[in-house]
Amino acid sequence: DKKVVLITGCSSGIGLSLAVRLASDPNKTFKVYATMRNLAKKERLLECVKSLHKDTLDILQMDVTSRQSILDARDRVVEKRVDILVSNAGVGLMGPLEVLSLDSMRQILEVNLLGTIQTIQAFLPEMKVQGQGRILVTGSTGGLQGLPFNEVYCASKFAIEGACESLAVLLQHFNIHVSLIECGPVNTDFLVNLQKAELGDTCLQQVDALTLSLYEKYLQHCGSVFQNAAQDTEDIVKVFLDAIQSPSPAFRYFTSGVVPPLTRLKISEPDGSRYISALSKTMFSAEEQ
Ligand code: NAD
Repeated sequence: DKKVVLITGCSSGIGLSLAVRLASDPNKTFKVYATMRNLAKKERLLECVKSLHKDTLDILQMDVTSRQSILDARDRVVEKRVDILVSNAGVGLMGPLEVLSLDSMRQILEVNLLGTIQTIQAFLPEMKVQGQGRILVTGSTGGLQGLPFNEVYCASKFAIEGACESLAVLLQHFNIHVSLIECGPVNTDFLVNLQKAELGDTCLQQVDALTLSLYEKYLQHCGSVFQNAAQDTEDIVKVFLDAIQSPSPAFRYFTSGVVPPLTRLKISEPDGSRYISALSKTMFSAEEQ
């Protein structure tokens, strides 16, 4: 029998690449349900899998912020079970905290945090009945260490860490493995899709000059990190495959292969002051120290 995989957020990026890779498995090991909020965006995925037989891939509508949409997608899984659930949908939000609207903050928490939790909730009872399962969640360095101008994004991703760690403890009694795939920068549509305060935006006019100049530096730093150090989705997919194929997967996988040095610093110096000064130095350069 094929392993039934359901992935959220498959219209682009990591979700799309993972869906394509698993659906093209030469041994046809997987039946993939690639889900996306907006089916009008399915062309890109279809383009990547056009040579495939229909029996390894189905595309379903699923908006992770809508419980009904999640349940409808679940009901359309022909096998009536999901062996591997991949909660991947997520969005970013960037800008000085004081200019972010309550709506935009709610939206990020709705998708990243409650979206992930609601998705897991919907598939958990069946996995418990099966007495086996895998839950993989696309995590972020921003879930392990704070990043300026990403307060709410980081809050959502830190929260995921807490939710998944808590679940992992319980679910080992059900032979259900929870794994976080912790990504640094990845070349995807993430930077295009994220909500971001742009430098010319009128909302930034009310922000003080120091915050603005630090934000400008941050954006430059972010741009160069994505340009120089971003991984490709194929690299991320390999790590997902490692976790999927391992008989006893780890709770955390770091896609770069190592714990990021600043995350390590945060762990080794738990009072936090060295992390905060080191990150500030990295992002804003020496002159502000
Ligand atoms: P992406 O923007 O290409 O993909 C995110 C997907 O989530 C999109 O297809 C989007 O349509 C979907 N999505 C958004 N809201 C949704 C909703 N309500 N319901 C269903 N789907 C929804 O970016 P990506 O980099 O592939 O992002 C995938 C995951 O990786 C996210 O959780 C993101 O936080 C995480 N991540 C990305 C990076 C990076 O640098 N790209 C780094 C760390 C973590």
